[in-house]
This record gives sequence, structure tokens and C-alpha cells, in this order.
Amino acid sequence: MGDYKFDLQNYLKELEYLVNIDSGSRNPRGISKVADFFIKKYLDIGYSVKTHEINEEIGPCLEIENCSSERYDILLLGHMDTVFEIGTAKERPFTIIDNRAYGPGVIDMKSGLLSMYYALKEIYEKELGKNLSIKIILNSDEEIGSRGSLGIISRAAVKSNVVFVLEPARANGALVLQRKGLGAYDIKFHGIAAHAGVEPQKGASAITEMGRWIVELNILNNYKAGTTVNVGIASGGTARNVVAEEAKIQVDLRFKEIAEMNGIDKAIEDLISNPIIKGVKVDVNKLGMRPPMNPMDTTMKIWSIIKEIGHELGIELDWVATGGGSDANITASLGVPSIDGLGPIGGGAHGQSEYLEIDSIQPRLEVLKKLILSPKLSRLF
Ligand SMILES: [Zn+2]
Repeated sequence: MGDYKFDLQNYLKELEYLVNIDSGSRNPRGISKVADFFIKKYLDIGYSVKTHEINEEIGPCLEIENCSSERYDILLLGHMDTVFEIGTAKERPFTIIDNRAYGPGVIDMKSGLLSMYYALKEIYEKELGKNLSIKIILNSDEEIGSRGSLGIISRAAVKSNVVFVLEPARANGALVLQRKGLGAYDIKFHGIAAHAGVEPQKGASAITEMGRWIVELNILNNYKAGTTVNVGIASGGTARNVVAEEAKIQVDLRFKEIAEMNGIDKAIEDLISNPIIKGVKVDVNKLGMRPPMNPMDTTMKIWSIIKEIGHELGIELDWVATGGGSDANITASLGVPSIDGLGPIGGGAHGQSEYLEIDSIQPRLEVLKKLILSPKLSRLF
């Protein structure tokens, strides 16, 4: 006790173990392995762990806490799932080249998970922060929208003063205080098939109606307001000489304010009720929605504490807004101040070039640890 020292080599060894486990969102076995690693780790430092089995398609969600309380000083969030298929870890396992570590999920966010643990382990070993009530949620479906863990995260968030999310810091080192909201739609067009040469007038082209939707949806882009509507996939039809019976598009929506999303939904309803091709029916399936994350007054107060901690450590810290979503969207939209990007620095998430800056591990761990223990933070609530 008391003489704890951060051991980077050990950290990297444990990170290698975690990165080399394939844990895609639809790989419950892989995620269970990652979960088992952390269950043991947290039990070792006196935390209790509750495992939520959500369904057989996705892995467990862990609820971890250092005490049972009505109110938590801090909620820490991380996700154990990655976007990568089974076999990726074998294909390109954990590697270190110069100051960077590579491998599937190395920055998004296996190093974040590990840093969270190391910060809490050090606090425990040094017998600090004994009066803090801390809850942690490690979920396994973040990369597919957190629909299964939404309830668990929301219930924990509303009982907490503040939420810290261990998603990576941006490549330039910035944290994240603002994220756009996100919507996803699958839209299907059902028309009437007919021979294009013999009696096209008896048909109703699903593709023509779809084409009109693509153009109309594109008009809804409003970069100034931060609203983007992207038709990412379009398909339809069966043959050149057949009036298309079926067509479909997949649409991604990003927005800064809920009102913007409501406006898009209204425009979609108008399109449904006013088709240009009579006889085409349109099914809109809204697959999910993440509300926007916008900083509140308290978020900015916490931010100045973080800046100060950075100063003490000789790190100039900044924050950015991003179009990508995370579980911080859920907690911030519930009115709980949420700080994201508290993990180490890296980039290339979701791609082959994903990397972690090894030099950033310890400094960012220090920031997190000092933030958790900050008396100024606890005085805010
Ligand atoms: Zn992530």
C-alpha cells in the first residue's frame, strides 16, 4: 500500500491480451472473455460486479461499483465491443511500432477500459478517495447503438453527479464535450411490377419514387445548422425491362438539436403522404436515435477544472465537438454533465490503421485520476 507505481510494461501486456480477443458487438463469447478479465480485476480492488445478460446476440453488460448507494459521485462508462469481425485479431494482432500500438480496438476502446481500471486501482492502492461513491458501466453494444444497455446506462446516469466516458481523446489530444445526435433509417419502397415495353402504365416504379426521395432528402442538408442527411446505400429493381417493384435506401442523419431531427421526421412524413408515383407505398423504419450531447453550465465548470489539472501536469488541454456519437449522448441528454474523450490519445478508429499513442497513456491516466479525486469537482454538487 502507498508505494504504488504505474507499470507501463504491465499495462501494455494486459492491453495486448485484450486487443487480441476479438470482441465485435455480435460476438458474445469474445466479449465475455473481455468481461471476465475486468470482473476479476475489479473484484481484486474491492468493487462489486453485477453481470446483466441482455440477450444471446450480444455479450454481457457489467455494472460495477465501490459501494451501494442512492447517489453516485461519478459514473464511468466504457464499451467492451469493437466494430471488427471474428478473425481480425489473428489477422493483425497487437503490435508496437515506435511510439504507437496497433490492433483492433486498441484505441476504441480497449486502452480506455484499461486506463479506467488503472486509475481506480491506483486510487485504491493509495487509499485515496475513500468517501467517493463510484459506479462503472461496461457495455457490449455501443458500436451498434447501445439499445440493449440503454436502460442500464440511463438508470445509472440519473443517479450520478457526473459522467466520465473513456472514449479516446482525439488524434490532436482534445477531449469531447459535444457530439451530434444521430438517427438511422431504413426506407423501403413497394411499387407495382410491369413489363417496361408492353404495359409500363400498369406499373408503379419503386425506383422512381426512391430517386425523388434521394433528391428531397439531400435538400434537407443544412451544414450551417449542423444537420446532415446522407443516403449511404440505395438499391432496387430486378431487370432492365421491368418497372421496379421494390427499392430501398439506408439513411444516416446527424443533428445538433432535437428540433432539427423533428424537422426531418416531419419532412419524411410529408414525403410519405405525397408520393409522385401513385401506387408506391413507403415504409420508413427508424432504426434508432442518439440524442445530441450538448455541454451545460456544469459541464463547462468541470471543463475548467480539467484545464487546471492539465496545467498542473504541463498538458495543454482542449475540447472539440464531433459528429460521431457515443454513450455520452445518452447521459448528457438526460441532463447529467458528461465529459468524453478521457481515454488515451489515438486515431484511425474503426479502420485498419487504428492506433494508440503510447506516450499518452500515463499523462491521460494522471488527468483522469486527479479529476476523480478533485475536491473542486465534488464541491460542484
Ligand atoms: Zn468507442
